[in-house]
Amino acid sequence: MTANAHIMTGLSRIGMLLRSEGWRQAEATGLTPTQSQILAHLVARGPARIGAIAAEIAVTQPTTSDAVAALVRKGYVEKRPDPADARAAQLHSTDAGTRLAGQLAVWPDALLAAVDMLDDSERAAFLKGLTKMIGALQMRGAIPIQRMCVACTHFRPNVHSDAARPHHCAFVDAAFGDASLRLDCGDHEEADASARLESWARFTTEPAHV
Ligand code: SF4
Repeated sequence: MTANAHIMTGLSRIGMLLRSEGWRQAEATGLTPTQSQILAHLVARGPARIGAIAAEIAVTQPTTSDAVAALVRKGYVEKRPDPADARAAQLHSTDAGTRLAGQLAVWPDALLAAVDMLDDSERAAFLKGLTKMIGALQMRGAIPIQRMCVACTHFRPNVHSDAARPHHCAFVDAAFGDASLRLDCGDHEEADASARLESWARFTTEPAHV
């Protein structure tokens, strides 16, 4: 078995745990995993149109529409006119939906404990590896653009000589290291395609000080 195959096996084990947790939550809350994802998305990011949510969670629009219809029936989501275009509808979480989403945001205890076992350097290396993998999937169009550093207009990778904090976030104007790379950042602003390519090349090229 090659190292790559071992990595795939490891990822599938973690995926298995997350899937089983998704179904456990589905039983506990009466929501399917897709409904949970939509509700969590609306609560975390605010109102959105169905098309935007479908793209974000990488599910087809008909599947998203069915899940939204179920959430509306259950009283967790409501449709209101989009202020930017009164002919279109925006989805909003209701108070009941926001309360329920608070229960959904919890990661499996076993996974949290496993991540907690990593020391600081393992955590930084793992996060950098994950960032590279998710960035590569994004570059290939396999997943939508994520709110992560490598897709952000404020990201300046490997610009500092300090090996512990080689990157720079122009939004907060501060240097940071691999352990602080963000995979879902509220301050993220999507860079244009050429800036993303440039940033990606710089991020994936080992700096001279390493
Ligand atoms: S704003 Fe967020 S996503 Fe963008 S570079 Fe800074 S930390 Fe990373």
